[in-house]
Amino acid sequence: MKKSITPNQIKQNNRSLIYHYIYQNHKVSQQDISYDLRLSRPTVTANLNAMEQEGLICKSGQIDTEYVGRKAAAYSITADYRVSIGVEILKEEVKMIAVDLYGEKLDRTVYEITYEYEESYFKTVCDKILEFKDSIGAADEQLLGIGFAMQALISPDRQTVLYGEILSCTGLSIENFTRYLPYPCAFIHDADSAAVSEMWVSRELTDAFYLSLSRHLGAAIISKGEILTGKHGHNSTIEHIQLDPGGALCYCGRRGCMDTLCSLSALLRGPESPDEFFEGVRRKEPSFLERWDGFLDNLAQAVNLLHLIYDTDFILGGYLAQYLREEDLEALYERIRKLTPFAEAQDFLRISKMPRHNVTIGAALPFVQTFLNEVAGQ
Ligand SMILES: [Zn+2]
Repeated sequence: MKKSITPNQIKQNNRSLIYHYIYQNHKVSQQDISYDLRLSRPTVTANLNAMEQEGLICKSGQIDTEYVGRKAAAYSITADYRVSIGVEILKEEVKMIAVDLYGEKLDRTVYEITYEYEESYFKTVCDKILEFKDSIGAADEQLLGIGFAMQALISPDRQTVLYGEILSCTGLSIENFTRYLPYPCAFIHDADSAAVSEMWVSRELTDAFYLSLSRHLGAAIISKGEILTGKHGHNSTIEHIQLDPGGALCYCGRRGCMDTLCSLSALLRGPESPDEFFEGVRRKEPSFLERWDGFLDNLAQAVNLLHLIYDTDFILGGYLAQYLREEDLEALYERIRKLTPFAEAQDFLRISKMPRHNVTIGAALPFVQTFLNEVAGQ
């Protein structure tokens, strides 16, 4: 059936095209927009005036334009027209970050608050979030929403914790927070959140297995630019694949899960920091090298198993990513090569492009993405 387009839809479409053109090109002239989008000057002028009045875009100095050969007024989007906050709930800490419409960090803070399934805890965290929101000078209407990254599996509607053994927060509802926060709020599984950040900085990334190698192991499957959640919400919970039935006890109650072999908790000893550990490795101290080699053996086994199931790129992310070097990828690849029946180039192994603040930023980004999808259709 042929659908007719109404004049109003064309208008909204033009507005959307212009906004996104400015967003992607950062700083453009009226002439650039008109030529590149093949829109008439009056149409562009009318849209620019309207969006400037609303505050969506702003004039930002002058710019050379190839079409008229002289300087013209430049337009940019107002990056902080809307902001979003990402919060990461951890056992001993609460991390917060505010981002603008480009997903750029506006500010960040960390509070030492120990998690408890208690009303006083939720109230304290929400008070801190409101304090943080005020400290960045965000008005109520500016705040798109607050995303809570959890070390837990989340229901598809992002309102409930389905499985949260690490924090003992199974069954937790987002209402525990929204009761004190008059903004849209949603949970996100922390590994999904890290994968969202990765996709944000690598726009060409459409398919990958993202491994979050942090204190605990997590993963997310990216397929056709989306994160697969699965029928019951436990897709890619590779951390509980049992590799060593007689191994160490996992927090899930079973033994020898991938989490007990391929996480930072498995790698580090007691209060040792990753900085201390990798200093030892880079100094080539035998005791550190031995542990690192053992870890890479386990990681190779895990990646090989997953790669046999899903032949795609593997992104090594999480907190460990910032310590990884090219030589580590080669060492890992060499081990996988000996395990796999398929001779493949090393190109499927990659280090995360966003090893810092990825979980908190990824929790904030879905609100930004929704805004960008809808913005110019207003
Ligand atoms: Zn387990």
